[in-house]
Amino acid sequence: HASFTLFPSIFPKSAYDLAWNVQNDMHSLMHKVSKDAQFLEDVLKSTIAVDDFVKNLFEIYKLSCNCEMIQKRAIGVFRSDYMLQTQTNDVGLPKQIEVNTMASSLMGIGTNKLLDLHKFNLLHMGGGSMSSENNLPRNNVLDSVAETFVKGWNMYGNPNAVFVFMLNQNERNVFDQRAIEHAMYKIDPAIKVRRKVFNTCAATTRVDADGKLFIDNEEVAVVYYRTGYMPGHYPTKKNWEARKMIELSTAVKSPSVAQQLVGSKKIQQVLAQPGVLEHFIDDKNVIKNLRAVFAGLYSLEMNSAGDGAVKLALERPENFVLKPQREGGGNNLYGADLVFQLNNVGGDERRCAYILMEKIQPPVQDNYIVHNHEYNPAKTVSELGIFGVFLTDGDKMINSCTVGHLLRSKSNEHDDGGVGAGVAVLDSPFLV
Ligand code: ADP
Ligand code: MG
Ligand code: MG
Repeated sequence: HASFTLFPSIFPKSAYDLAWNVQNDMHSLMHKVSKDAQFLEDVLKSTIAVDDFVKNLFEIYKLSCNCEMIQKRAIGVFRSDYMLQTQTNDVGLPKQIEVNTMASSLMGIGTNKLLDLHKFNLLHMGGGSMSSENNLPRNNVLDSVAETFVKGWNMYGNPNAVFVFMLNQNERNVFDQRAIEHAMYKIDPAIKVRRKVFNTCAATTRVDADGKLFIDNEEVAVVYYRTGYMPGHYPTKKNWEARKMIELSTAVKSPSVAQQLVGSKKIQQVLAQPGVLEHFIDDKNVIKNLRAVFAGLYSLEMNSAGDGAVKLALERPENFVLKPQREGGGNNLYGADLVFQLNNVGGDERRCAYILMEKIQPPVQDNYIVHNHEYNPAKTVSELGIFGVFLTDGDKMINSCTVGHLLRSKSNEHDDGGVGAGVAVLDSPFLV
């Protein structure tokens, strides 16, 4: 079984509502950024110089900007993650840890099943009356993602073309993915879903003269990536060639390379700088709400501000997280590791591969963690994810919707950690 908490964790409703309410604006913002090639180039230049993974993605992005045949539509499945920052006498603000624009997972197993278990446990602990829709909201994320995928498949316009889940070798997240697939078949039994391993299907991937994508001789309508977000997912040049071929084809992507790039921590850091939101958004209220959820973020570029950030982090490492442009958990540096790495790379351009972030200290709660059929008491901290979906067509955004949540908790002795990385466990928010 997936690891989970025995009881839901308390989360303030005002913070939940704020995170929920900024999600659609986050979609619009990130979509605009993804279409601004000059901005992306300026912002990512120093990272590209020292990080081959981002460089490879950016090269495909540049080609995609100048490709006439390419599919102009894309599907967004984004999850913004937040930790609660509390000050004395304050319920706290949700502070954005990151926005996942690729392979955002756990909508399948992390949703209503666990909610029902939590209600059951509360009932048997004498707390049944606490389980109202207000306190323990149901979650529509699975059906909404499936619905968006079916719309994206229809948008392609050929009912015989297949919807491909692009996967890792030895995929561990099968149950989560199958739940989406099954929900898609419920909405439209005519859809054809295929599961392909990215690493091995490169050899049978081709594009015809009209830009149509074929994998194993079937025309592909949509490629949905649950892989491709780490350097290890591209062991050879062939994998990068396959990614490029798919990107420049007429298949609809989720995500496009552009969407993947705007999800990088470097973009997050730059968006939080004074004046940058104003470049993309006119509405002052929207800017105010977005800024309220941004944590302190610092550039490590080769200038005096970057020098200052290195100094600050070395003086007070316990207050910061050092983040490379990576996904999937387990890549950030804290405490002594942060100090070691900054002593190592802090004086030259290698530091541009990272950004520095204020460390959020969320409130600690008592719970039990059920792992591998055993339960143990734990002091836990939580991270709230808010899921949103949308379709895009060129500059236009269609059907942008905030659709659900995911709560993950971990013992407060761990700094980093996702569910996939084996540290965080599934939880439900108990709103107060
Ligand atoms: P990834 O893309 O690998 O998931 P994250 O930015 O989400 O990277 O970081 C991974 C984990 O590290 C988060 O789930 C969280 O537990 C912890 N973390 C990241 N940033 C912070 C922060 N600013 N303050 C406290 N913990 C953080
Ligand atoms: Mg991530
Ligand atoms: Mg994360």
